[in-house]
Amino acid sequence: MTSPGELPIELRGVSEAITEGGGSWRSCSGCHELNEGHPTGPYSPVFRCALGNGCDECGGIGAIWDTTDYGAMAAAWDEPIDQAPAVEWPKARDVGRIGDMSPSDSLRVGLDSDNDVYMAVCGANGVGSVEFCTPGSGGGKSSRTRLALIALMVAMEADNAETPSFDWWARRNTPAKEGPAT
Ligand SMILES: [Zn+2]
Repeated sequence: MTSPGELPIELRGVSEAITEGGGSWRSCSGCHELNEGHPTGPYSPVFRCALGNGCDECGGIGAIWDTTDYGAMAAAWDEPIDQAPAVEWPKARDVGRIGDMSPSDSLRVGLDSDNDVYMAVCGANGVGSVEFCTPGSGGGKSSRTRLALIALMVAMEADNAETPSFDWWARRNTPAKEGPAT
């Protein structure tokens, strides 16, 4: 028997468990329905949630103990957004830009078939190049560097659109007899 104000023996400790923060009681989805987002069952001050009628999912209690850490879940949802920003891809897979000091010096940035990014600095003395692979299956270890180079391709395309005379590909494809563009 329970005296007034005293909880049934099964419910002692419930309040402490909730207060300790390891979880919370949620209305049982098997026997409790929301009406336009509002609980339809009676509110339990012990469980601190609305109760369903009881079913085999909740053992007749009408509520289910939920240990989901919603704070961590929210953080996990936020994380991929930080780690994988939306990539603005360049229109071309290889973008070249001629430097200001000499028409023979240029910067080339491109994507290969795996979307690995290669970068080459070309000058009168030759070419130096470096490649940054796609992270994950591609084995790339420089995801931010790679994304910055993809952004660089976009920037170079914008500059090429503004001053096509410094567009490496445009100049390369221009017949030599027309002379260097200005
Ligand atoms: Zn239930």
